[in-house]
Amino acid sequence: MGSALSAKPLASRAMTRIYDDVSIRWAAESRAATAANAGSRNVPAPRIRGRRGSVCCLEPPTLARTAWCCAMAIALLACAACTGGPSRLPETRSGPLRIAIVPFRGIDETSVATVRREIAARYAVDVEVLPERALPSTAYYEPRKRYRGTKLLEYLDSGELTQFDKVVGITSSDISVTKGEIYDWGIFGLGSIGGRPCVVSVFRLKGKGASASLIADRLAKITVHEVGHTFGLDHCPTTGCVMQDCAGSIKTVDGEDGTFCSICDARLRDAGVLHAGP
Ligand SMILES: [Zn+2]
Ligand SMILES: [Zn+2]
Repeated sequence: MGSALSAKPLASRAMTRIYDDVSIRWAAESRAATAANAGSRNVPAPRIRGRRGSVCCLEPPTLARTAWCCAMAIALLACAACTGGPSRLPETRSGPLRIAIVPFRGIDETSVATVRREIAARYAVDVEVLPERALPSTAYYEPRKRYRGTKLLEYLDSGELTQFDKVVGITSSDISVTKGEIYDWGIFGLGSIGGRPCVVSVFRLKGKGASASLIADRLAKITVHEVGHTFGLDHCPTTGCVMQDCAGSIKTVDGEDGTFCSICDARLRDAGVLHAGP
C-alpha cells in the first residue's frame, strides 16, 4: 500500500520527538529467562533517573480525558521509582537474530507488511511472518472488550515461539495494561525490556479519519519503539529519540519522527542489531 514508510524507513528521516506508547518492565523472571537464551542480544538501556518502564496510553480522546492523562503522566513521572537492575551487556553469537511476527486474527495484511518492512529496514535481523492465529482467550478482558497486554506478552513468550529471539505480536484489537490505580488502560503497544516479546495494536491508530499512510506511519514508529525495548533499551531521556517516553496523545505520534538518538543508536549498533551505515 502507499505507506509513507514503504520506501522511506524511519532511519532516513529527520529526527524529532517521539510519540506515546506503553512499555513496561514486564516481568523480571521473564527477562532472566530470556537472558539465559543464547539467542538474546540485548543492549544496555539508557539511564533514566527517577523512573523506569514508562506508562502512557490513549483513552477516548475527550478534552477532559486528555487533560487528565497529562496530569497522570506528570504525576507518574514525578513519583515513579527506578527499580531496574543493571543492564546486561550484549551477548554475541553468529548469524542474525530471528524475529517472528505473529499476526493475530483480524489484522489486515497491509499492517503486517508495514511491521515486517519497518523491522527489516531498521534492525539487522531475519524477519519471519508466522501464520495468522487467534488472540489467546486468556488475555481477554470482557468488561472492556479488550486484551490484556501483559497476558499477550506471556503468550508471545511461550510454546513454539520461544525458538525465536524476538516475537512481535500485531493485533487490530484494543489492548490494555494496568497503569497506576487504573486497572484497564488502553495502549498502543507494549514491550518487554530486554525480553523476547512485544505487541502492537492498530486499534487506536485509526481515529479521526486517518489515512492509510498515516496509520502505517504510526504503526511503524510504535513497532520500532517496542522492538527497541526488547533489545534492552529503556525509555530514553533524549528529546527526539524514538525510545523517548511519550505523553499520551496520537497527536504527539503524528508530530514526531522515529529515529534513535546517538546514544541509543550506538548501543544498538554495538550490539549488532542495527544495519551498518548512517
Ligand atoms: Zn516504550
Ligand atoms: Zn535515545
